[in-house]
Amino acid sequence: MIITNESFMQFLTEINAKVECPVCSSIGWSVSATYRMDTAFQENDIVINHLPYAHFDEHEGRSTSFVGGTPVLFASCDMCGYIRLHSYKLVQMQIALMSLRQQQGERDAK
Ligand SMILES: [Zn+2]
Repeated sequence: MIITNESFMQFLTEINAKVECPVCSSIGWSVSATYRMDTAFQENDIVINHLPYAHFDEHEGRSTSFVGGTPVLFASCDMCGYIRLHSYKLVQMQIALMSLRQQQGERDAK
């Protein structure tokens, strides 16, 4: 699922989240976590950002990343560039539920 700026703002409103930037207090976020592009897996694939997993060696004090990670959605403030981070899976699920409720409401209104 591609998450647009509009659907992200609807998500924030739906869950009563703060929409003001904690740094500059402006309202306006640009979602830049989901793209469509050709990948090694398929054409026109959905590409998202993630935070990679890593092994931490306590003796050496170093980390080594490896394949896999946590899917994330980040949005940057249009004014100051502050970046907020959300779980991609949770936002995607909430937006899908909002869409289902909206469809049911439209069906019930007919
Ligand atoms: Zn800001």
